[in-house]
Amino acid sequence: MYEMADHTLPLLPGNRPRYIMGVGTPENLVELTEMGCDMFDCVMPSRNARNGKLFTARGDINIPNARFRFDHRPIDENCTCYTCRNYTRAYLHHLYKSRELLAYRLNTIHNLYYYLDLVSTMRQAIEADRFEVFKRRFYDTRSKGV
Ligand SMILES: [Zn+2]
Repeated sequence: MYEMADHTLPLLPGNRPRYIMGVGTPENLVELTEMGCDMFDCVMPSRNARNGKLFTARGDINIPNARFRFDHRPIDENCTCYTCRNYTRAYLHHLYKSRELLAYRLNTIHNLYYYLDLVSTMRQAIEADRFEVFKRRFYDTRSKGV
């Protein structure tokens, strides 16, 4: 994918938005933004949320995992989304294991917020000409683990 994007992006007009369909992971968005992509769309944040996989700055969480059963922290302690402000990992684990529909909604709210915050942060880094610093921090933090 990166090889193909690297080949095709320079062929597109630089004064027009560049859209890539069906991408992707947070890492994909960072890499492709650096290569010059402007827009993405993908089912990943919502589909993963419905499957209990939640994105955080420190890596991903699989909320059905038993380790979250008594974890009273929010999904991501630095996230200000509705879900993280109001619900614990333990409660989200319970909802998911109970197949309660609210689990899918709350998880999706968080994952969409995570993605929107990620692209907003990348935009600010580009405007401040600090994308390399952003990218280093992004990977350092993502590798720390939850
Ligand atoms: Zn959140």
